[in-house]
Amino acid sequence: MQKSQFMAGNVTFSMIKPDAYADGNSGAILQMIEKAGFKIKALKLTQLSEQNAGKFYEVHRERPFYKDLCSYMSSGPIMALVLEKQDAVAAFRKLIGATNPAQAEEGTIRKIFAKSIEANAVHGSDSDENALIEASFFFSGLEMF
Ligand code: ADP
Ligand code: MG
Repeated sequence: MQKSQFMAGNVTFSMIKPDAYADGNSGAILQMIEKAGFKIKALKLTQLSEQNAGKFYEVHRERPFYKDLCSYMSSGPIMALVLEKQDAVAAFRKLIGATNPAQAEEGTIRKIFAKSIEANAVHGSDSDENALIEASFFFSGLEMF
């Protein structure tokens, strides 16, 4: 069997968050992602329930912003994405920029599209392990990766 690309570190998971989708920025963001050399391997327009947003962001349960974050992330449609590129997790974190758009580098997706540290336009996984966990939250049949 072919070695999993998740295991090889070539796949990451992303979401276009409710603010960016609602503002009609999905197309521009997808274009930046593709221009940066990522291949879109899976894509779904969906909406998280507050409960599922809570599960997705379980690691932040104790943080003061957790409740607000779950409410915001379930406030409207999102796009869930599985993306492939060499060293995908790190390359994608570089493309999106810092969590707080005020600290994000010029030309990054968050610098261009984020409204605030919370409504920051996009999600990007922080490790290969979490990329697989997060992608599995939205997509089945990931054996193909
Ligand atoms: P990242 O998305 O860059 O990996 P984190 O994993 O630390 O950042 O946080 C998850 C999400 O929680 C962020 O993308 C943002 O939407 C929200 N968030 C993080 N820190 C704060 C904060 N200090 N205040 C409000 N929302 C925050
Ligand atoms: Mg994170």
